[in-house]
Amino acid sequence: MKYELVVLGSGAGGSAVYDNLPSSSFMLLTDHKPFCLVDLGLGVGKQVIEIFGHFPKQVIITHNHSDHAGELPVVLRVEQAKGHKMTVFADAKVGGILREARLAEHHQVMDSDAIANWQLPAAGECIELSHGLQITFYPGIHSDYSCGFILTHNGAPRLSYTGDSTLDKAFYTLLDQAPVFIMDARPKTNAWHASFKEVKPWLKEGRYIIGHGLDMAHTRMERKQGWPLLWQGDRIAF
Ligand SMILES: [Zn+2]
Repeated sequence: MKYELVVLGSGAGGSAVYDNLPSSSFMLLTDHKPFCLVDLGLGVGKQVIEIFGHFPKQVIITHNHSDHAGELPVVLRVEQAKGHKMTVFADAKVGGILREARLAEHHQVMDSDAIANWQLPAAGECIELSHGLQITFYPGIHSDYSCGFILTHNGAPRLSYTGDSTLDKAFYTLLDQAPVFIMDARPKTNAWHASFKEVKPWLKEGRYIIGHGLDMAHTRMERKQGWPLLWQGDRIAF
């Protein structure tokens, strides 16, 4: 099976509100059809509608920060009302937080099981995602509990993503098994994210940086310096 991802945004925490840049997110496709969204932070829903015209059946959420899950309550509720109940994939602990805290605005009207289907494996447990892919979540180190993941096909790693995390060697070593590895990194030293300098030794073919929060001009400048920064519209086969 051949898969592809399309980048929807590479923004950081405040990017969508203050810089009009969509939060970090990408769509998974096979046969040119979108089947799973990865993170649904502020500014991402508009990108999904503009590029694909509709939401896929599946969404993976790495953690509850607004730049990764901020638009989840609106989209799940609207899609459910249209008879298009979505399935949320998240680590069990992240899923608990999403159901309780992120979806609190809907609690008086309907519970979280009525709004979405939930696939919430424990960290390290491999489950079926969709279209021949399996997913395993692994916790990173971040200001809120956050998980990265590895997608496998017939047991072979295909794609990994850190979610938000500092550079933890054991975590990076796990994710480094995949031929395409997307890492969260910021231009400068940051308490809760890796920095460009820190991820540099991990960069080789198939490695990309998201979550950098840079605008288009600065992204272009850094790319010229050789940093593999992702930008909305980028497509990567995996
Ligand atoms: Zn975060």
